[in-house]
Amino acid sequence: MVAIKTTQPVMVTGATGYVAGWIVKELLDAGLTVHAPVRDPDDRAKVDHLEALAAGSTGSIRLFKADLLEPGSYRDAMAGCEVVLHTASPFKVDVKDAQKELVDPALLGTRNILEEASRTSSVRRVVLTSSCATIYGDNADLLKTPAGVFTEDIWNTSSSLQHNPYSYSKTVAEKEAWAIARKQGRWNLVVLNPSLVVGPSLNDQPTSESFAMVKRMGDGSLRMGAPRWGFGMVDVRDLAKAHLAAAFTPAASGRHIISGHDTDLYEAARLLLPRYGSRYPIPRRVMPKWLLWLIGPMADGGLTRQAVSKNVNLPWKSDNGRGVKNLGATYRPLEVSMNDMFEQMVDRGVFTKA
Ligand code: NAP
Repeated sequence: MVAIKTTQPVMVTGATGYVAGWIVKELLDAGLTVHAPVRDPDDRAKVDHLEALAAGSTGSIRLFKADLLEPGSYRDAMAGCEVVLHTASPFKVDVKDAQKELVDPALLGTRNILEEASRTSSVRRVVLTSSCATIYGDNADLLKTPAGVFTEDIWNTSSSLQHNPYSYSKTVAEKEAWAIARKQGRWNLVVLNPSLVVGPSLNDQPTSESFAMVKRMGDGSLRMGAPRWGFGMVDVRDLAKAHLAAAFTPAASGRHIISGHDTDLYEAARLLLPRYGSRYPIPRRVMPKWLLWLIGPMADGGLTRQAVSKNVNLPWKSDNGRGVKNLGATYRPLEVSMNDMFEQMVDRGVFTKA
């Protein structure tokens, strides 16, 4: 557990989101004051759980109104903060206008917040929630890596506005963050590059793509089988602790892959079978690549044949050693994360709704 030295408020963007909810909880439980700029502080469905977390902790929370696309809107929330955690960025794959829905909020939002950090004299550390998607675009990219493993030295060069636009949005945003950090000398940047995040949410109606992925494992979408589509996965609670370490470890710097498990969709879904296999259509078979290639474009969300070709039956493999060594990152078993997440979705009636 990292020692927390600051008594100043800590700013967290995207506090209404899945990942940030657990970061806010950790900060509140450590007795800190959290400044949470959100799009609509009066949207009770989005903020009630944050206020309840604060009420049950030794810390406190202050909500502010801000938008990634509105320059200057983070000024009041950032005033007096030593540490800024920037998590806000849309995580969705089914988009109509990738520039507007993904790239603009990711890139312009990062610029907006980090330039505000450069203007705010109290800021000493910025932690950016980036993604492994800035390291790779498709699993096929693994074949081009020097040692057959994704590391922090590698950048995603295969994604574009047309192909894997979410990964592209995260890549241009992280590059922008490094460019802004290099222009000044007061605050330093620590980047976390998580793989696919799983585990329960603190917000009742999570919008994160993580939930759409796991929902498909129980709603019959994968009744015919799950593809061996390689993924890294990490529990949201372990990721939150890594954020606190990134925020408060004085010597921390650079990028950190935060990923507990090299796995694939079929293997991850199988972990649900012992508890839920008799009640829900959890996939029991591997979906052949040729079949997904054939039907993917017709499926919900429209999977491209290029994505199938470059990801299915191809493994995902990362070296998470830097985060373990420098941030003390620890990882719970994937079975626990998957079952905790699924159990919560069952309790919330996710699989009984149309
Ligand atoms: P999420 O639950 O959808 O959270 C996204 C957050 O971004 C929400 O708080 C959302 O606010 C905020 N946001 C989006 N557009 C905004 C705008 N224009 N202005 C202000 N706030 C805006 O997704 P998540 O999974 O927690 O993702 C959080 C971060 O982790 C993202 O940077 C994502 O790229 C990264 N990440 C996630 C995963 C994963 O598997 N989940 C993996 C690697 C990295 P509203 O509530 O108002 O919509």
